[in-house]
Amino acid sequence: MRLDLSLTHQLDHFRLSVEVGFQGDNLGLFGPSGSGKSTLVALLAGLNTPAAGSIRLNGDTLFDAGRSVDLPPEQRGIALVFQQPALFPHLSVRGNLLYGFKRRPPRDRSINVESVAAALGLEQLLERGVNNLSGGERQRVAIGRAVLSSPRLLLMDEPLSALDDDSKFQIISYLKAACARFGIPYIFISHSLVEMRMMTDTAAVISRGSITDICGTEELARKLMERSPVGYINILSLNSMTERDRLCVYRWEGGELLLSPGNLDTGSGLFELSSKDIILFKKHPEAISARNLLQCTVASLFESGTKMGVELKCGKGRLISEIVPDAARELRIEPGGTVYAAIKASAFRKLATTEEK
Ligand code: ADP
Ligand code: MG
Repeated sequence: MRLDLSLTHQLDHFRLSVEVGFQGDNLGLFGPSGSGKSTLVALLAGLNTPAAGSIRLNGDTLFDAGRSVDLPPEQRGIALVFQQPALFPHLSVRGNLLYGFKRRPPRDRSINVESVAAALGLEQLLERGVNNLSGGERQRVAIGRAVLSSPRLLLMDEPLSALDDDSKFQIISYLKAACARFGIPYIFISHSLVEMRMMTDTAAVISRGSITDICGTEELARKLMERSPVGYINILSLNSMTERDRLCVYRWEGGELLLSPGNLDTGSGLFELSSKDIILFKKHPEAISARNLLQCTVASLFESGTKMGVELKCGKGRLISEIVPDAARELRIEPGGTVYAAIKASAFRKLATTEEK
């Protein structure tokens, strides 16, 4: 997609003023509650009319105040998914999915119900009613309906915020697979940086009605490391759990990791580990209480406010640790050097359960 926005809009005391030119398959819109995300969504989709400016999608003008162009929502080719899926209660899953499909002229129906249901794991549910589906299933139906309308752009406004972590991370993999499979570009809106990192390559930051930054999502997470109370969140996929000395031993691409079972529902899954919970040693320490000690190579160093981020390579795994610049100097931490990373067994938190690999 190619998106060119130059918009201003006023809602009582809130002023939105956005200038963006973007090209790519996916874009994140990241900002706190009240920053103007949903206001912008409504303007893009044509649910609301901007006070001034223009909206162009793939070079086509959807709105231009100066030329009096204002395409109605159904002519914009933009599909929407919201936090709460608005399904038709009297229709089956299939009926809900077909709703979007039937609204497209036959020549635009490049995607069929069966393939979308397969991509979103809905095959077994097609003939069911939608009222007794779980929250995650309902949201998958809403996404499927949007995908089946063969949109030029899929706009998702906090689509995962109402879901528990397990359904959230399952949906992320379905969602990415479906959009990639059917070639649908999307804008993913969220106030969660972890969701943003899993869903997007580029993110625009919105604050008080303006876009203040647009950069790679990974780069954004590194920039925000210092300002975030939880630091940079390392996301690890861990599997093949066994038990040893009352600890859970997991296989990770960077080697074996020991986790304490106290705060875990055990089994394979996605786990988070804060950059604040990784302590670096220049030499192999003789005896430490932390149960994980990994020999790593320093891949890179970056600044985040008054902190330094150290990107570590352990086997095929990557981790980010944060330290103060003084420590980087004292330990002479530089790219290519070797360090030892100590991590307590209790520092991990499970984000979601995944199937055993
Ligand atoms: P977000 O989606 O980022 O949480 P919104 O776009 O919903 O933020 O809201 C941005 C600001 O606009 C908020 O301060 C909100 O109170 C205000 N706002 C939203 N809708 C209206 C409206 N219809 N009338 C007046 N103010 C509104
Ligand atoms: Mg909102």
